[in-house]
Amino acid sequence: MALTNEYLAGVYEDVKKRNPGESEFLQAVYEVLDSLQPIAEKRKDFVDAGVFERIVEPERCISFRVSWVDDAGKVRVNRGYRVQFNSAIGPYKGGIRFNPTVCASEIKFLGFEQTFKNSLTGLPMGGGKGGADFDPKGKSDGEIMRFCQSFMTELAKHIGPDTDVPAGDKGVGSREIGYMFGQYKRLQNEYTGVLTGKSIYSGGSLARTEATGYGLCYFVQEMLASRGTSFEGKTVVVSASGNVAIFACEKATQLGGKVVAMSDSNGYIYDANGINLDVVKQIKLVERGRIKEYAECVPGSVYTEGCSGIWTIPCDIALPCGTQNEIDEASAKTLIANGCWCVGEGANMPSTLEAIEVFRESGILFGPAKAANAGGVSVSGLEMTQNSTRLPWSFEEVDAKLLDIMKNIYKNAYAASVEMGRPGDLVVGANVAGFLKVANAMVWQGVAY
Ligand code: NDP
Repeated sequence: MALTNEYLAGVYEDVKKRNPGESEFLQAVYEVLDSLQPIAEKRKDFVDAGVFERIVEPERCISFRVSWVDDAGKVRVNRGYRVQFNSAIGPYKGGIRFNPTVCASEIKFLGFEQTFKNSLTGLPMGGGKGGADFDPKGKSDGEIMRFCQSFMTELAKHIGPDTDVPAGDKGVGSREIGYMFGQYKRLQNEYTGVLTGKSIYSGGSLARTEATGYGLCYFVQEMLASRGTSFEGKTVVVSASGNVAIFACEKATQLGGKVVAMSDSNGYIYDANGINLDVVKQIKLVERGRIKEYAECVPGSVYTEGCSGIWTIPCDIALPCGTQNEIDEASAKTLIANGCWCVGEGANMPSTLEAIEVFRESGILFGPAKAANAGGVSVSGLEMTQNSTRLPWSFEEVDAKLLDIMKNIYKNAYAASVEMGRPGDLVVGANVAGFLKVANAMVWQGVAY
């Protein structure tokens, strides 16, 4: 990757100056600008309208104090964020992440990526992201509830069903969405679809829980079909054991693949017989335990300390579903050396720029996150539709729409890659296809003076 276009190189230098030390945000911006070079050369109207300069600057960044009281009666303070990145094609939309790593750079990179991902879904959703540097691990249910209520007490001032509709992300599942939804309702005295990922008892959509993992496999299925093959009989490695990973494992298995490894941030399990997902679900979803407990329950499986070792396991298909930059250059080379020929990104930005370069140069199938993991936000969009019409759809209806959306994302990203003279390069294809819709809307809406 090299930013040879002088104009975009200048845009990137300005982003660097304005966001010093924000390495993840800069990484995400660099990758997108690199793909957009042919567009900058062709589309003088975008340059004249300052679209490139505007699209890398969030419309609004909110940061706020979240104070709450722990079970011991001690006052604790965290920092909350909401980055409302781009509203050119719809209300801001994107998840909330609770993790100790959360900082402005992390939320900005996620909000930036979300803008293009949401555009790719074909649904009218702008880009946003939020979170807090709060670690839900080891907290009691009461502590989680008090934290979520305090977080929402401030966030409620900035969101709304036609303004900004958050969802879950790392560390934020149905339980946390429920506490935030309850608090929003209490504060505003309104029962609206202000959050997605809600329980089905409170306006949630069937298949939202499964959507990101299932959608990832539907996207990978399209990539495999482009080489005349499928999941059937393939060995699959899935990193992590959270929401995305569990349902990626489920769908990959249903489609005939054999998932042999999963992980968490401490280590990974290897099960040559294929992962028993019921055991993983019991440990992670019911007991909120650690993945190493799997090896204690399933004879013949092995636990190894250290999560990055998972990429040394030979496989056909790798699905990174944990966190940003979990695959570096060395892990990418090891994967390929051990026979991996297809990577689908379930997590956001799980591969470093160097790792992506390795994948692209090797000619393997590579599905970048903003296309491959767009299933979650797509079904969030479908949840918004069901909330607006007050008509719920069946699991099968939502799943069928998800499949259709993922097929279209693949088709549009592939078509854009061909148009850019890089057939099959879905990094370029997804970035260009996602960008064009947002950019055209920005030009059409004019510049605010
Ligand atoms: P969860 O909180 O449900 O799970 C996160 C999982 O990632 C946990 O198993 C966690 O382990 C693991 N993990 C954290 N760090 C690492 C690491 N370094 N190596 C391996 N595993 C790690 O989050 P989600 O499944 O919702 O999100 C996972 C990723 O998918 C994130 O990048 C998120 O932004 C992205 N995503 C999520 C969507 C959704 O709908 N939920 C939609 C689109 C993208 P531990 O328990 O030890 O922390």
